[in-house]
Amino acid sequence: MVKADLNLKRAVLDLMMGGDKLSYCMQCGVCNDVCPISQQHGSRYNPRDLVLFSALGYKEALFAAVGRDPFALWGCTACETCDEMCPAEIPITEIICVLKNAACAAGATPEFYPQSCRTIRDNGMAIPVQPAINKRREKLGIGLPPAIPVDEVKAIMAATGIENTIKEKEEGSA
Ligand code: SF4
Ligand code: SF4
Repeated sequence: MVKADLNLKRAVLDLMMGGDKLSYCMQCGVCNDVCPISQQHGSRYNPRDLVLFSALGYKEALFAAVGRDPFALWGCTACETCDEMCPAEIPITEIICVLKNAACAAGATPEFYPQSCRTIRDNGMAIPVQPAINKRREKLGIGLPPAIPVDEVKAIMAATGIENTIKEKEEGSA
């Protein structure tokens, strides 16, 4: 029998009931059709399934699938294309964020996770802008990108306790 995790179910249904209306996923598959990750990687990544399993609270089954292939959850780039196209206006990206947080709490993060966290902590972004790109921007007359308040990013990350998660992950893989 599949067990339902009521905390996860409640967190996801709370998101679906945000504001003054109840949105419920009708499993139309539009999110899957428009998702660039799903288009590139086929059956390895499916936002419709993530919404369905999380709304049912099937955390154990979901994390077992993510354990077999972390890409099934961590493939999401949070581009929000699915949110824009969902006919039921389900906050799909936020739901996936809830799932990623739950995966972190359970220690089910992929190998690249600590390195990505450190890059964000030290640069304020996941992919730091290279000097060559800045030179090209100047040549094109579009100026430099706005400065990132790295100290603020560090303070936010420290407040979330993410450093402990990174350390635990590193110690676990040592
Ligand atoms: S597009 Fe919206 S309603 Fe359709 S399957 Fe995805 S989440 Fe559900
Ligand atoms: S936010 Fe995630 S699930 Fe939605 S379209 Fe982008 S990659 Fe796909």
